[in-house]
Amino acid sequence: MNNPAIRFQTDAEAGQARAGTLLTRRGEIETPVFMPVGTAGSVKGIRFEELEHSDLDARIILGNTYHLWLRPGIETIRSCGGLHRFIGWDRALLTDSGGFQVWSLGALRKISEEGTEFRSHVDGSLQFLSPEVSMEVQAALGSDIVMVFDECAPGNAAPEEARQSMELTARWARRSRERFDSLQQEEADSGKKTAERLSGTQALFGIIQGAANLELRRESLQRTLETGFDGYAIGGLSVGEEKQVMWDVVGEIAPLMPPDRPRYLMGVGTPEDLLEAVTHGVDMFDCVLPTRNGRTGQAFTSRGRLNIKNAQWAKDTRPLDESCPCSVCARHSRAYLRHLYLTGEMLASILLTHHNLAFFLDTMRGVRQSIRSGDFPKFRREFTERLGTNGE
Ligand SMILES: [Zn+2]
Repeated sequence: MNNPAIRFQTDAEAGQARAGTLLTRRGEIETPVFMPVGTAGSVKGIRFEELEHSDLDARIILGNTYHLWLRPGIETIRSCGGLHRFIGWDRALLTDSGGFQVWSLGALRKISEEGTEFRSHVDGSLQFLSPEVSMEVQAALGSDIVMVFDECAPGNAAPEEARQSMELTARWARRSRERFDSLQQEEADSGKKTAERLSGTQALFGIIQGAANLELRRESLQRTLETGFDGYAIGGLSVGEEKQVMWDVVGEIAPLMPPDRPRYLMGVGTPEDLLEAVTHGVDMFDCVLPTRNGRTGQAFTSRGRLNIKNAQWAKDTRPLDESCPCSVCARHSRAYLRHLYLTGEMLASILLTHHNLAFFLDTMRGVRQSIRSGDFPKFRREFTERLGTNGE
């Protein structure tokens, strides 16, 4: 049998929670893992050296197909040797399919069986994205993990609309799979890299849709499994639905996903959300919260969120989080960070982003260690208790 694109193994379990190892052509990733979001080829506000540094040690980041396709464009990235070389990052990259971004354009897009027509947010030009185009773009980017092109139904979709959307996603997944496979044979993958026990090709993940309807979600899972993928994702959550809806879906679907493949919950969430999802057996996460909130002055800490603008920190010489081992907390006070933020210094965003990412990545490190040592329930209980003490 040919070598696979990735290998995944579970090393320890705690209930449904699992700690595992995801082997990619660009290195080993311990799971559960948080993936910082690098929308347009940069994780906003942080250098790649910092992401690699032991403070953060991010093993995999995300790139957005939609944004990179429109700007700088695929020809540019291909001629610069693929996305890894273009941006200067040699660790693993996962690219989304553009489906979610196009869906988010709302009235600016038109969905048909063939694909989605939309106006570019950059220059207003008419563009067309389909499963085939998305696979071609992701092959040119050379990401290590490729996502199928899917359609996302709104959380409050009527049953018939949600069904049609789920069925369209299933048909698009098959088309994605076919085009993806032919692109791998054509060696269109710009990121190809030999790796021991792996094929050196890209991996393709399927996406389970079906809005808030559990029956549709189960059917979507079944149809996604029939097509067959290297890993499986739950999409279409955290799009404005009630939290309980998300947990009903994750609680139902995650344990039904193949145990020997990575499970990825797309676009979720807060540190509390990550822990909750881990208890249902999810392995991979991405979210813009640590970077986006860092730029608006909000820090995630082990004692809850802290708004650096507040006057109460004006003379506070304590770090953002007294139990955070990151280099920002080792050096700078809340008073100084507040001053930077209020005077509009770009360093405020840089430092808050660094700390927030360190907090998310460190939390996941703690999750992994506690699952491996059999202490996950205790870790989770203490983490939740501390969060309630709110910024003090
Ligand atoms: Zn810190």
